[in-house]
Amino acid sequence: VETPDRDVLRISPGRLKKALEGKQFASTSRKGKFMFMHLEDGSRILVLHFGMTGRLLYYRNEDREPDHARLLLHFQKGGTLAYDCMRKLGIVDLTEDVNKYSKGEDLGPDALSLSKDEFMRMFKRKRGMLKSALMDQTFMSGVGNVYSDEILFQAGFHPRHKTTELDDSQLGHLFDVMQEVLEKAIECGAQPGDFPENWLTREREEGRACPWDSTPIEKTKISGRSALFCPNHQK
Ligand SMILES: [Zn+2]
Repeated sequence: VETPDRDVLRISPGRLKKALEGKQFASTSRKGKFMFMHLEDGSRILVLHFGMTGRLLYYRNEDREPDHARLLLHFQKGGTLAYDCMRKLGIVDLTEDVNKYSKGEDLGPDALSLSKDEFMRMFKRKRGMLKSALMDQTFMSGVGNVYSDEILFQAGFHPRHKTTELDDSQLGHLFDVMQEVLEKAIECGAQPGDFPENWLTREREEGRACPWDSTPIEKTKISGRSALFCPNHQK
């Protein structure tokens, strides 16, 4: 276990080494934006959050070590798994229990684990703007800035629209679009260049033509984040 850059570590390199060295990973799980790597003996769970630029890379040739590796896991039988994160917004941590960890992070239910009924019940009680609600990790986890824009773009709702002003059929529509967007994004490996032509996220740029109706895309600030939207079809 090597930690070339410790800025994203929430635990000491020593504790990380002690917990992981000589062990074997058995499975992974996810809640919201957190990934959990479970050790086979159940003793510890490695927690990874990818921030905006984090990724995992596995390679056998050391020349392939990425430029911004924060954690390197070298395997006994060869090969290295690198946690690479250009901007230091990621997290590397350890836990013994996923539920306890997500409680500590105050994570709401995962967006892909919700049924339509649960989603609608939650959103009916939530005040504020649609974009803020979708991005609020304590309310519902997993959807961030980019995907909240994509969901609202495809659902045809303005990012400042009030959650309480949506009726049942509109909330149901929002849920359906959210599921479609997240599942398609996963299928595309979350690579914007591989997203369908009519997605906003293929080119997140103010002023570019809306792929649906050619209206120039506008930019505004909501909850401190930049929201992109089409002033024509997002009402
Ligand atoms: Zn449009």
